Amino acid sequence: MLKTENLSVYYNDFLALESVSFSIGKGTMTGIIGPNGAGKSTLLKAMLHIVSHQGTVLIDHKESKKQLKKVAYVEQKAAIDYTFPIEVRECVSLGTYAEKKLFQRITDKEWAKVTEALKMVDLEEYAHEQIGALSGGQFQRVLIARCLVQNAEYIFLDEPFVGIDSVSERIIMRTLKQLKAEGKTILIVHHDLSKVSDYFDEVLIINKNLITHGSVTAVFTEENLQEAYGDTLFIGKGGGAT
Ligand code: ADP
Ligand code: MG
Repeated sequence: MLKTENLSVYYNDFLALESVSFSIGKGTMTGIIGPNGAGKSTLLKAMLHIVSHQGTVLIDHKESKKQLKKVAYVEQKAAIDYTFPIEVRECVSLGTYAEKKLFQRITDKEWAKVTEALKMVDLEEYAHEQIGALSGGQFQRVLIARCLVQNAEYIFLDEPFVGIDSVSERIIMRTLKQLKAEGKTILIVHHDLSKVSDYFDEVLIINKNLITHGSVTAVFTEENLQEAYGDTLFIGKGGGAT
């Protein structure tokens, strides 16, 4: 279970997130939506103690700071050096380091997990390629494979589908749905409103404040979207939502 109580974030004097409270059950796939600058990335970072915040974040009923090992996180446009000379399988194996001591070697069993993860995202045959040789979508799949290897209960992804090909998007969604079926809890900052109903069980709609949180069928309504997006709202079905 993920729970925030009155979560607020200030960047100096600027209030980016104001008193956000919600609770998310296990085994759900939740989309975080809201306009640019709404505080979506900030919300994930606050929950992960990457930015300082006021209020409380609980993971499985405990203060989140002590529970960070339970969370795998892929940041927005992952700030990994694409040209860094590292093989795909090595990049994925970094997911095992959460459970390792410094300089401890990766075991055969862990390499088997890496292979398994690469299989799940259809990149098995790329294991020995350099990451620089991959497309954006393939690289995003590598980052998802790294989350798999981490074996985290909670997976936070920040706009994982931006700028990637539709095949990669489909493979990632397939993988995430499988993880959800295994009881993992997935939180995704998401841009494309047209996919929300297909992808998520629940949505958190934010614009600095929490506009609403609930099942897609209950709260993904034009009225709530209008409140979050105002005049910038476009559903993307060939026209505005006016
Ligand atoms: P979103 O992910 O919804 O687009 P962000 O969480 O990135 O929004 O940002 C929310 C607001 O906080 C924006 O106005 C952004 O400019 C501001 N912001 C984000 N990060 C910082 C930072 N490190 N310092 C100052 N302001 C920031
Ligand atoms: Mg963002």
